[in-house]
Amino acid sequence: MKLNKHFADLKDSYLFAEIENRVAAYKKEHPAQNIIKLGIGDVTLPLCSAVVEAGKRAVEEMGVKETFRGYGPYRGYSFLTEAIAGAYRERGISVDETEVFVSDGAKSDVGNILDLFSEDCTVLVPDPVYPVYVDTNVMQGRKIVYADAHEGNGFLPLPDGKTKADIIYICSPNNPTGAVYTREQLAVWVDYALSCNAVILFDAAYEAFVGDENLPRSIFEVKGAEKCAVEFCSFSKTAGFTGTRCGYTIVPHALGELNKMWLRRQSTKFNGVSYVVQRMAEAVFGKEGKAQIRKNIESYKKNAALISDTLKSMNVYHTGGVNSPYIWFKCGADSWAFFDRLLHNANVVGTPGAGFGRNGEGFFRLTAFNDEKNTAEAMKRFKDIF
Ligand SMILES: *Cc1c(COP(=O)(O)O)cnc(C)c1O
Repeated sequence: MKLNKHFADLKDSYLFAEIENRVAAYKKEHPAQNIIKLGIGDVTLPLCSAVVEAGKRAVEEMGVKETFRGYGPYRGYSFLTEAIAGAYRERGISVDETEVFVSDGAKSDVGNILDLFSEDCTVLVPDPVYPVYVDTNVMQGRKIVYADAHEGNGFLPLPDGKTKADIIYICSPNNPTGAVYTREQLAVWVDYALSCNAVILFDAAYEAFVGDENLPRSIFEVKGAEKCAVEFCSFSKTAGFTGTRCGYTIVPHALGELNKMWLRRQSTKFNGVSYVVQRMAEAVFGKEGKAQIRKNIESYKKNAALISDTLKSMNVYHTGGVNSPYIWFKCGADSWAFFDRLLHNANVVGTPGAGFGRNGEGFFRLTAFNDEKNTAEAMKRFKDIF
């Protein structure tokens, strides 16, 4: 076999697999301990009833000759693309229905969009960040340069004026740091991208956690962004769809050929999200669904605030926790050593910053995806060992 040689360049130990291994080993030695997981970025609350009911109705339709559906439209059913475009318009952002592409999630789209770009592109990725941006580019052999995020810039790097990139990744609110760019900061990135003819791949997976009206939830809140940015979003963190699978990508017509190319790519390699799931996603925009989802997000945000307040009371430097489900704090030099200490002495699982990039070392991520009781208990134990 002639294999893709770039796979050899991937780092082989996957962060969450290593965490699982260490937790399993500890559990084996200490089976009676009550371990609280504030590690993996997966939601814990179930789907809301409006979504579940929409799903049930859709399943029934699929079992009746008159309402059965086969293959759906490539960009997604118009009831959903219209709801998505409408939600943008409600926030004053002009998005046309034909700029919306429904998919099985943001992870797929973030990886698949690379089909549209030349392999000799230079890619600018924040460090630390969601590992998918790096790995998908490594698989295709692209040159990667990093935008350093650190305490000095509040984990919100800006263009350094000397790095030349063709593809720029921005994730705001950020995973893992929880940091959120201001509109003014995003405008700097947009100006930079326009000036060097780069594309911004903007990951808005956590936009629903932004409560502060002064902070942007979409790159398209910035003037000119429609000429340089693609935006990825997902129902995963917004509405608990991590196991249900649905997301969407906005590819503006102002980007030129890109919208057509993405339609061509999707219609060739993807046959769409199931009708049932698209109906469930549609319910997220309904009156009832909106209110139910808001309640879930507020519950996570309460946990995030508790974690952030605990760190504040201990004078520990951290980002996130206010407009994000993630809290990123300074833990000392060796984040894997801190992971072990937290696991062994407090029975709390978090994520070592080193797993998110070179600049992640010395930092640690906790997530708000647990219930209030567990989060409170974890913070009590945390205080005792930090
Ligand atoms: C969770 C997450 C996503 C969402 O991925 P899905 O495939 O839609 O579940 C996208 N980007 C980031 C940074 C995430 O953390």
